[in-house]
Amino acid sequence: MIAEVYIDIPANPVNKPFDYQVPEPFSDILAPGMRVTVPFGRMHRLGFVTALKESSEFTRLKSIDTVEDHLPVLTTELLKLGRWLADTTVCATVAAYQAMLPAAMKADYKKVIKVEDPEQLENDDPNLAEFFRSKRQALWSEVVRNDSELLNPINRALRRGSLSIHQLVRNQATAKQVAAVSVAVSKERLNLELLQLNDRAKRQKEALNYFIRQSDSAAFHPTMRALIDEGLSRDAILKLAEKRLLRIDQIEQLRNPYKRSIEHTEPLKLTDEQANALAPILHSMDKPEHRVFLCHGVTGSGKTEIYLQSIQHVLEKKQQAIVLVPEISLTPQMVLRFKGRFGDHVAVMHSGLSRGEKYDEWRKIREEKVQVVVGARSAIFAPFNNLGLIIIDEEHESSYKQEDMPRYHARDIAIHRAQGHQCPVVLGSATPSLESFARARKQVFTLLSLKERVNHRPLPSVHIVDLREEMRQGNHSVFSKELLEKVKDRLQKKEQTVLFLNRRGYSTFVMCRSCGTVVECPHCDISLTYHRAQHLLKCHYCGFEQKVPDTCPTCGSDAMRFFGTGTQKVEAELNRLIPEARVIRMDVDTTRKKGSHENLLRQFGEEKADILLGTQMIAKGLDFPKVTLVGVLAADSLLHLADFRASEKTFQLVTQVAGRAGRHSLPGEVVIQSYSPDHYAVLDAAHHDYEGFYNQEMALRHRGGYPPFFYLAMVRLTHPEPAKVAEAAERIAMILKKQLSGSSQIYGPVVPAVSKIKDRYRYQCMVKYKREPALLPVLHQIMQHFQESGKNGLQVSIDLNPVALM
Ligand code: ADP
Ligand code: ZN
Ligand code: ZN
Repeated sequence: MIAEVYIDIPANPVNKPFDYQVPEPFSDILAPGMRVTVPFGRMHRLGFVTALKESSEFTRLKSIDTVEDHLPVLTTELLKLGRWLADTTVCATVAAYQAMLPAAMKADYKKVIKVEDPEQLENDDPNLAEFFRSKRQALWSEVVRNDSELLNPINRALRRGSLSIHQLVRNQATAKQVAAVSVAVSKERLNLELLQLNDRAKRQKEALNYFIRQSDSAAFHPTMRALIDEGLSRDAILKLAEKRLLRIDQIEQLRNPYKRSIEHTEPLKLTDEQANALAPILHSMDKPEHRVFLCHGVTGSGKTEIYLQSIQHVLEKKQQAIVLVPEISLTPQMVLRFKGRFGDHVAVMHSGLSRGEKYDEWRKIREEKVQVVVGARSAIFAPFNNLGLIIIDEEHESSYKQEDMPRYHARDIAIHRAQGHQCPVVLGSATPSLESFARARKQVFTLLSLKERVNHRPLPSVHIVDLREEMRQGNHSVFSKELLEKVKDRLQKKEQTVLFLNRRGYSTFVMCRSCGTVVECPHCDISLTYHRAQHLLKCHYCGFEQKVPDTCPTCGSDAMRFFGTGTQKVEAELNRLIPEARVIRMDVDTTRKKGSHENLLRQFGEEKADILLGTQMIAKGLDFPKVTLVGVLAADSLLHLADFRASEKTFQLVTQVAGRAGRHSLPGEVVIQSYSPDHYAVLDAAHHDYEGFYNQEMALRHRGGYPPFFYLAMVRLTHPEPAKVAEAAERIAMILKKQLSGSSQIYGPVVPAVSKIKDRYRYQCMVKYKREPALLPVLHQIMQHFQESGKNGLQVSIDLNPVALM
């Protein structure tokens, strides 16, 4: 038998599989989608088996060293999806495969086979039972190397459940190990020991009795912790273990990050609008057919309940569902809503989990122990076999686009997978992306509208404050008079306030007052950001840090001053203006520790604070009944980014933040402070006017020739030497101009707004096109040709439908 193997080198210019001989012991267990180690060049490398066949056109094939998996980690569907992904995002196929797997599987890891049910194993396969009698567990890699004739029986036993397989993440910091205690001898032996024990060994007798009572169930492996909680003595257990009556194993615990008991919720009675939106989704599922729904519902219109009830239907049909939420709104609150309805049927995947935890969640999906996954972008690759529905909440979020290879958009993957499974996709948002709304207008997507909040709660009333006017009146505070008044008012009424500060483009930098010099990163073309906690200047691109200079590096003056506003500074100002207010600050600094995000929100929910002050991470998904005031400190900090999506982002953000107010019985109010109070993005958001914004923005995009009227493709290049990168960019622009049709426009090469990152100079070429069949072939050709120049030389990356033009 021959296996086709993609070698695990993402930058490999040879983007094709290699043939390997499959040695005898592996031929029965090997399947496409498993990983193997193979000799490659002078090294041994990991690879993905993508196909098995009888013969090869090559002679003298090398053989596979070992098989790494007992189950395919990639399903047939995902293997195919990977090839499609590689083709359409212009990357190596293995890079696509890697992106589909949890990080723990890329890490250094060991797999252990353990006996689950010794009796069944004895019945099924006495040989195997004998093998495990002496060791009780074995490393997969050692079995593969030394006892490969056992692989087949082991695989059978794994399927029957008498053996189980566990993955140990070698980095102990990420794997949760616990001591588990089990009985090492027969029950008779324990009874005998009990009789022989000295009367003074009371604690040991107690422990023995405990295990004698329990030893009928073969799978009794309580943790040491649990035994101590039951009142047994650790010393006694350790002594019994020394006598080889009990055994203690370090086992990897299946981590459950949401072990807090979760209240079960029942489906709510839907409003008419909700029912009208749900019906066509269920209809598509039953047909079944592939269809993309765009659920456009104002904040608080009950979109999540529609998701929940459509998932209910998926479960009834014994199918599976993927729910994507942006990382930033994957708040405990959001997770609880899904766990509360579907309990253990739900796996959760987000970046707050350790590698080991992510792996556990992934394994639940792979082994079909759950039917629903709620997760951020990469959960779109969940290895479900029978998908019934894919939901993307906040579909306009730019975080659905991956910014590394493979540069995919989760929405595209969702639609592609759903086509294969003949199931619907539901895109939900209060502020759909222009791309999606335009498709709905053209009836490519089916539009579902929810115009009212649940129970007709009014949308909050919005006031716009002109910050320029405040300045003229001599108010240099970050708080306008109006906002400050209203915050004080809520304080008196014992209601809560959310204050939102957009950090991007608004972070603190250090500038010389005499000559205007801004302290910049020596490696990147960007100013350094002041971090007050450590009193350091840091580069947000490369991590470079330095002390705050006492004197100006250019003119030597000592008038170095801080500019801009960070959350810390706002907090300090709040403390000064309203000392009695209790403030919770949420930003990257206060939420770095695991669980702190959840803790801070819980405290706010329990009304242990009056004001929640935060960045993007509080813009979404929060739902607190006592919040009646939302303040946006500077609505236009995004507007001035050099990006054709700046207005769209501003509109979305302001709408989202405003949606946090007055979601329950108390009416809500929003104050938007802005330096451009007349900008349509700010005004339309204040008037809750999505369509007004859409029409105006579409007209501008049409005039400028931007998406969704045109598609964009970006080729980015970097090199340590400016001349080299300029020359290569010139050549690439030439190739594009020569090979693409006349209807496509090529812009560049140009130097982007940030011209240098990590000591590498940057250039880019942009292609604007409507229909361009030659584009993908040309881009693949460019990638192959320019990638060979090696690591320290030129780096080329290709980004189709880029979300940022920088
Ligand atoms: P969205 O996701 O559209 O912003 P949510 O799903 O968060 O809206 O719903 C807003 C609030 O209304 C939530 O507190 C939710 O529990 C409640 N809700 C949703 N649907 C109903 C319903 N049919 N009856 C009563 N309350 C509902
Ligand atoms: Zn830097
Ligand atoms: Zn100076």
